[in-house]
Amino acid sequence: MSQKPKLRIVLCAPRGFCAGVVRAIDVVERALALYGPPVYVRHEIVHNRHVVQSLISKGAIFIESLAEASNRQAPVIFSAHGVAKSVPREAEALGLFTIDATCPLVTKVHREAQVHFKRGRKIILIGHAGHPEVVGTLGQLPEGAIALVSSVAEVEALSFGPEEDIAYVTQTTLSVHDTQEIVAAILRRYPKAREPLRADICYATTNRQEAVERAAPLVEAVIVVGSANSSNSQRLREVAEYAGVRLSRLVASAEEINWDEFGAVRSLAVTAGASAPEILVEQVLDAFAARFAIEVETLSTADESVFFPLPRGLRKQEATRSGT
Ligand code: SF4
Repeated sequence: MSQKPKLRIVLCAPRGFCAGVVRAIDVVERALALYGPPVYVRHEIVHNRHVVQSLISKGAIFIESLAEASNRQAPVIFSAHGVAKSVPREAEALGLFTIDATCPLVTKVHREAQVHFKRGRKIILIGHAGHPEVVGTLGQLPEGAIALVSSVAEVEALSFGPEEDIAYVTQTTLSVHDTQEIVAAILRRYPKAREPLRADICYATTNRQEAVERAAPLVEAVIVVGSANSSNSQRLREVAEYAGVRLSRLVASAEEINWDEFGAVRSLAVTAGASAPEILVEQVLDAFAARFAIEVETLSTADESVFFPLPRGLRKQEATRSGT
């Protein structure tokens, strides 16, 4: 009988769902229970196909434009990434009723940008062009009010004068390491630039990156479970690569594992982006267990106890329905 080769697996913790994702999924499920299907969700509620498919099976309809919400009695939910100010305005004009599932840590960044704008400051946003969160943050203010940068070179190309009152904010799901370099470039050019009082890169992104950074030197390979369009999952894969791991791959599910690459590996770290459910991690472990004699250990770098309450309007509606 042929024996399976041994494989040591380091399971990173924290990994997977963050408080903002748990809340956003909860919003859709509670809205379905409260109003019945359909419930429209503008954009993927969180960037994970598995989550989206499961909500579709319960009666959610995902739309990209508000015009697609043909049943005007059904609620429209805004995703965890946040939306530009024009979106609720358009919804109101269309007579739609909306529920905002924007993560409170994204809303914090929106507020910071609004305060800086009111005080007449020039605002720099560090983030990736086209990501829904960045589109939403840019859309909090009139067009052109925020300068978007994603690299040190783009900071060097900024046209603000050295005497101007400048502040920066960031996307919540960036690489901590890359962002430090961009912030350093901003402070070199504008030493008095105002920084966020509390870092804009969120606790979940920071903790997941720290765990994978600590695990990477201990293993030959890293698997990040998450969708290709998930910014924080992509960053986890990069963080592992920067930390020197030979093979770092992002997989949406166990089916995407390339066994030609992973067949000879004898030590592996596994983590998951903030929008990836734990069931997908378990399926990845099962896939390895089918081919290897696995030994799993957990590397834990932080305890998380963050919780965000549901949007007030939804809680009120639930209380009204239940008569409490
Ligand atoms: S990754 Fe961070 S900002 Fe995004 S939903 Fe989770 S907690 Fe909120």
